[in-house]
Amino acid sequence: MKYQNIEEFKKDQGYYLENVWYPRVTKICDIKSKPALYYFYGQAESFNAANQKKQKAASEGKIVHEIIESFISHRSIIVPEEYLGIKQAFEDFLKNHSLFSKIEWLEKKVKHPGYRYAGTFDVLGEIDGYFALIDIKTSSSVYDDYKLQTSAYFYALNEEPWLLDNQSRKIILPKEIEKRYILRIGQKKICERCGAVMRVKKMGNKIEDGDPNCEHRFGEILGEWELKEFEDHEEDFKGFLHCKGLWEWEYRDFLKEIGYL
Ligand SMILES: [Zn+2]
Repeated sequence: MKYQNIEEFKKDQGYYLENVWYPRVTKICDIKSKPALYYFYGQAESFNAANQKKQKAASEGKIVHEIIESFISHRSIIVPEEYLGIKQAFEDFLKNHSLFSKIEWLEKKVKHPGYRYAGTFDVLGEIDGYFALIDIKTSSSVYDDYKLQTSAYFYALNEEPWLLDNQSRKIILPKEIEKRYILRIGQKKICERCGAVMRVKKMGNKIEDGDPNCEHRFGEILGEWELKEFEDHEEDFKGFLHCKGLWEWEYRDFLKEIGYL
């Protein structure tokens, strides 16, 4: 993306925390080529159609986050019928894993003082006895790229083991973050005749497996979830820092003007 001026660049690529501008983790990771995304654009009827789909996916992601946060904070919300699969998936996840979290540990901004980047993580919590960072995704698979993003949050949190609440008060974390996970949550319907799986998504349902000649008869909406651990923190963080190096080169003129470089 090309920026008209420095203000536009600063607003899109980062934000201020305690009067210091930091670039956002997601923007830094965007510098890496994403073949799956290009394929998605290539398959779309038009660039606008693809962007509309992406917006739908983003709004779906937001709703999913809200549902899961209501569970964690024991807030009751009315889940729209088209998202009952998500609710079911999370309930099933909780039957299989112990999770303890708090409202203060949800969706907070963190920064790394040394490497100077910032971002917003999804969930901190004790999961099966380990203090962990959990990122929630609604994609149809767990992409390798998520390793970069989560390692950046992981190292930031272990560098400054506290969070700031809305009044900028420090919430000290009980211990170091020990593990990193992606919790992938989705909805599906299964064909009663051939067993084909329909992934139910706002941006368009996708049918996988089964018999292509079957006149599918899909059953009720079901939830599905996958908890994936990323183990090599150091390797992933190295990858993230390399992205950051390339990101800095790409925007060097703006960054020099800001005084970041
Ligand atoms: Zn079928």
